Amino acid sequence: AKAAGRNTFRFFEPAMEEEAESRLRLGMDLRRALQRGEFELHYQPILDVASGTIVSAEALVRWHHPSRGLVPPSDFIPAAEEAGLIVPLGEWVLRAATHEARHWPDHVRVAVNVSTVQVRHGSLIAAVRAALDASRLEAERLELEITESVLMADDERASAVLHDLRGLGVHIALDDFGTGYSSLSYLRQFPFDKLKIDRSFVSTSSEVEAATIVRAVAALGRGLGMIVTAEGVETQEQFDMARAEGCTEVQGYLVGHPYPAGEELRMRLGQAPA
Ligand code: C2E
Ligand code: CA
Ligand code: CA
Ligand code: CA
Repeated sequence: AKAAGRNTFRFFEPAMEEEAESRLRLGMDLRRALQRGEFELHYQPILDVASGTIVSAEALVRWHHPSRGLVPPSDFIPAAEEAGLIVPLGEWVLRAATHEARHWPDHVRVAVNVSTVQVRHGSLIAAVRAALDASRLEAERLELEITESVLMADDERASAVLHDLRGLGVHIALDDFGTGYSSLSYLRQFPFDKLKIDRSFVSTSSEVEAATIVRAVAALGRGLGMIVTAEGVETQEQFDMARAEGCTEVQGYLVGHPYPAGEELRMRLGQAPA
C-alpha cells in the first residue's frame, strides 16, 4: 500500500479501517444478539402532575453483551438502524413491552420508542397490530414515541402511517421536542397526543432560560390539546418549575430511574410515589 503513494495510503488509514470493521462487527453482533435474546427492556415511570400518580412507563432497550456488559441504546441503535436490524429489534421491543404492560395496573400505559426507519419501512402497522393481538393489551394503553426526523423525510407517507396507527387506538407522542428540525406546521399536520420536551431544555444551566422555554412549549402543546411531558427532571427545583410552567407530566430520575421488568416494577407502578 505504501508504494501506491500518499493519497492511497491516506485512504487506508488504520483508523478508518478499524471503524468500518467495528461497524461490521457490531452489525453481526446485533444479529446474533437478537437470536440469542440478549436484549432487555427497562421501564421508566412517568408521573401525572395533577394527580401525583404514575400514569405510564417508557420502555428503554438495553443490550446484555456477553463480553462488553450492559450496552446503552445510544451505542447500538444507530448501528441497528444502518444495518436494517432496527425493524426486527423494534418488533421485539413492541412484543416485549406490550406483554409486560399486561401485568400493570389498568390505568398505566406503556410508551415504546419507534425509529424513523420503522415508520418508513411499511411494516409498522402490522407489527403494532400483531403485538396488541398477541398481548391482548388495549390499544389505548400503548403509546408510540417518534422523533421529528419522521416528519421531514416523507410527509405524505409518514402522515398516513401515523393516522393509521391512531386509527388502531394507540397514542402518539412527539419525542425530544425542540431538538430536531421542528416546524410548528408539523403540530397541525400530525395527530399527536403528547409532546415531550427534551431534557436539554429542562436542565439547561440557566433556570430563567429553562423556565421560559418550558413555559412556551407547554402553552403551545396544551393549547393544541396535547399532553406535555417534561423529560429529564432530576431535581425538586426542576420538578417545581415544570409544574409551575404548565407541564402535564414529568419524567426523570427524580420520579424514578429506568427499572427492569418484574414484580418490583409492577409494585412500584401501582403505588403513588413517596
Ligand atoms: P429517549 O427516548 O429520549 O429516552 C430518554 C433517555 O433519557 C433514556 O436514556 C433515559 O434513561 C434517560 N433519562 C431519563 N431520565 C433522565 C434524567 O433525569 N437525567 C438524565 N441525564 N437522563 C435521563 P437511554 O435509556 O440511554 O436511551 C437513550 C435513547 O435511546 C432514547 O432516548 C431513545 O431515543 C433510544 N432508545 C431507547 N430504547 C429504544 C427502543 O426500544 N427503540 C428505539 N428506536 N430507540 C430507543
Ligand atoms: Ca423516548
Ligand atoms: Ca426523549
Ligand atoms: Ca433523547
